[in-house]
Amino acid sequence: MSTDQVAAPESRSFEADVSRLLHMMVHSVYSDRDVFLRELISNAADACEKLRFEAIANPGLLGADSKLRITLKADPESRRLVVEDNGIGMTRDEMVEALGTIARSGTKAFIDRAGSAQGAEGAQLIGQFGVGFYSAFMVAERVDVASRRAGQDEAAFWSSDGQGSYTVRAAEAGEAPERGTRVTLHLMEDAASYAERFNLERIVKAQSGHVPVPIAFAEKPDAEPQEIADGSALWAKPRAQVSAEEYTDFYRSLAGQFDEPALTVHFRAEGRHEYTALAFLPGSKPFDLLDPERSGRMKLYVRRVFITDEAEILPRYLRFVRGLVDSSDLPLNLSREMIQESPILAAIKKGVTNRVLGELEKLAKDDAEAYAKVWDNFGPVLKEGLYEDFERRGQLLGLARFKTTSSGEGWRSLKDYAASMRENQTAIYYAAGSDLARLESSPQLEGFRARGVEVLLLPDPVDSFWVTAGIDYEGKPFKSVTQGGADLSLIPKLDTNADSGAAPSEAVAGFIASLKTVLADQVADVRASERLTESPVCLVAPESGLDRQLERILAQSGRGGLGAKPVLEVNPNHDLIIALAAIGEEDRALSEDAAHLLYDEARVLDGELPADPKAFSQRLGRVMRRSLG
Ligand code: ADP
Ligand code: MG
Repeated sequence: MSTDQVAAPESRSFEADVSRLLHMMVHSVYSDRDVFLRELISNAADACEKLRFEAIANPGLLGADSKLRITLKADPESRRLVVEDNGIGMTRDEMVEALGTIARSGTKAFIDRAGSAQGAEGAQLIGQFGVGFYSAFMVAERVDVASRRAGQDEAAFWSSDGQGSYTVRAAEAGEAPERGTRVTLHLMEDAASYAERFNLERIVKAQSGHVPVPIAFAEKPDAEPQEIADGSALWAKPRAQVSAEEYTDFYRSLAGQFDEPALTVHFRAEGRHEYTALAFLPGSKPFDLLDPERSGRMKLYVRRVFITDEAEILPRYLRFVRGLVDSSDLPLNLSREMIQESPILAAIKKGVTNRVLGELEKLAKDDAEAYAKVWDNFGPVLKEGLYEDFERRGQLLGLARFKTTSSGEGWRSLKDYAASMRENQTAIYYAAGSDLARLESSPQLEGFRARGVEVLLLPDPVDSFWVTAGIDYEGKPFKSVTQGGADLSLIPKLDTNADSGAAPSEAVAGFIASLKTVLADQVADVRASERLTESPVCLVAPESGLDRQLERILAQSGRGGLGAKPVLEVNPNHDLIIALAAIGEEDRALSEDAAHLLYDEARVLDGELPADPKAFSQRLGRVMRRSLG
């Protein structure tokens, strides 16, 4: 190490996003500042696990110091807290990169979200978004990081007060550990309690008691550290020896969540392949649930050595599950290709997936209320499996829950639906769209309601995929209420006194024919409807066309265009239609205006604008003036 390097600290500005983030850390008073410690310990544990992993190929990196550990050193007098590890360490360049910029795309999202978040929520977001290191500035007025990368002689020193810039230079003798990283927090006055033993032990127990690296504590900078967490792997213990509280603590430190897991799955597979799996279903919706990357959160360990969190152990539609698998059979030096092709890993994936789905089925059976909450949070993601996982489609259809025209506040399963199908009903009917309230009031549902036929209400974008994938449930196809003829005539109406749906009168038939002529450019056909009981008109898709709402969703997401012309259905028993039919050829001008207005009304009921807003307003004006005499 040359002396001029030591003498020349380099001052640099943080990347703009980091500055913004730091400003938030320093100035927002998050009610729960304790999380900073969890974040620093988690970084130290990651560093130890990375070294353990690199040392498989290069055992020299561990040298004589093979027991990886994290050490906390407190000094209440000088208001300092040190978090030190003997893990992988960082070179000067790595420090500049890791502590001065933000590589992650989630950070912007964090800044946007946390900017408006209050108190505890803001603190929870920190862990979820992986902006952990900077949380040190919630409690420290200055943070020093001294680090020596494993296998290297030089060490570097980084320091910042979180005010927009930092300095880096070569470390002086004794400043950095022999290997790994020492983070020194110069605590703010009102954060002095973070240098006290009692407080630190409490936080470590609550947040980091199960990190897989032992944690020691030294009450004075030069005192002998004592172990306060043994770094034993919780998942390696038999289930009976782990308390619910320990599971929750572990889940929280693993997932960076603050809630209770909705479901804990812990098992050991023996026989052909030996592995342990520990998986949690979060109790609330993670912010990145609908992230287009859809990456999973299961970690892969081999004999307690962390290998990767990119092994995609669970299918994407289970990406909200947090946890890990620890295999006894896989080799430690797993390459990317091996991860993709390993038959052992394939067997593990299958085993863990089956188990998680099995536990979900059990929960659905034993505790419908708890399951409803899971479905509320994760249903839209689980439904992706209906078109992605052909093999488990039946099982997933069984797990699926729906809002329907008769579900009220609750959820209905397809089994419930099938059990209450009406006589002569041959299909499972659905209405798809983007808004539940709008769906419920679609005119297309009237005829189904009048016959007591339940209709699934599908408000999620994902519904457009599975429902058009040619799926059936126990031999019954899914059919849109806005698609083709409704085949409702064979199903009797509940109110036997209601109009029997007899063939429309001659006058009405004539009116329908005239509509067809006037609206020839707009619609494929005009016909009398079985769907309508209250509204005069509605639009439906032609027999072979896509459901209209789905067509719209597909068009919005760039996966298709609004293709086929719709069919206009007319309620032959509606007062207005009967009255208009009676006018017949007597008043051509009024009939024509009425034809266009009816078509526009049907569009509006579908959530669209009138076809030609200007012409619409002229027609409406003419008709209103007439009615005023
Ligand atoms: P994350 O841990 O999610 O990557 P952080 O903000 O907590 O985000 O840390 C940023 C980066 O700084 C880490 O990814 C790592 O590269 C580096 N880093 C932080 N602490 C340590 C440490 N104790 N040892 C080695 N590298 C570290
Ligand atoms: Mg981190």
